[in-house]
Amino acid sequence: MTETLLIATHNRGKIEEIADLLADLEADLLGLDDVGIAWDVEETGVTFRENAILKAESYARASGLLTLADDSGLEVDALGGQPGVHTARFGGEGLNSRERYQLLLDKLQGIPWPERTARFRCVVAVAGPERVLAVQEGTVEGHIARSPSGAGGFGYDPVFHVRDHEATMAQLPAETKNRISHRARAILALLPQLQAIVQGDRS
Ligand code: IMP
Repeated sequence: MTETLLIATHNRGKIEEIADLLADLEADLLGLDDVGIAWDVEETGVTFRENAILKAESYARASGLLTLADDSGLEVDALGGQPGVHTARFGGEGLNSRERYQLLLDKLQGIPWPERTARFRCVVAVAGPERVLAVQEGTVEGHIARSPSGAGGFGYDPVFHVRDHEATMAQLPAETKNRISHRARAILALLPQLQAIVQGDRS
């Protein structure tokens, strides 16, 4: 019987992005909405790892399914690694993406290029109803640009200048971003373990 893998998000775009990366996995992928889960786990962890595990465990218990959850965000060295796990809420509730990255640019005003280093980090966790089975992470290194550019992507992409690409995330074609992103790297690092898990290896 083909294994079912629950992708712990309500976001269709994220499910499709992950499904693309897991194209070789012999599993049927479903999102939270497909299994009638309408609620969100409260992300109370202080690290991406804690939040990814919290989400994978909670949704695996609730659904009875093998579950993959991710948690990601932006670490800015000049801000001591902030906003980190608070990336989605940086600046408080009620701001849109543009207002959030503008706040980041304001905080970094006058900081010279070599000190504007930052990275997107993603941790992915896989859990069954009883326990966590695998955890991996991926990062993409870059600098916070002085001003936004590019129209692609979402969130902080217009102000994240990718180190190896001489472009912001928002200027990269979607296929390129989805190959080099922190999420892609985390999922690809996880793939061999996930393949073993769906083939029945839960050791
Ligand atoms: P999540 O854990 O995937 O929900 O990501 C948390 C927050 O990090 C999002 O709300 C975005 O603000 C930011 N973020 C995560 N991944 C990306 C990305 O690929 N580009 C831009 N921003 C991102």
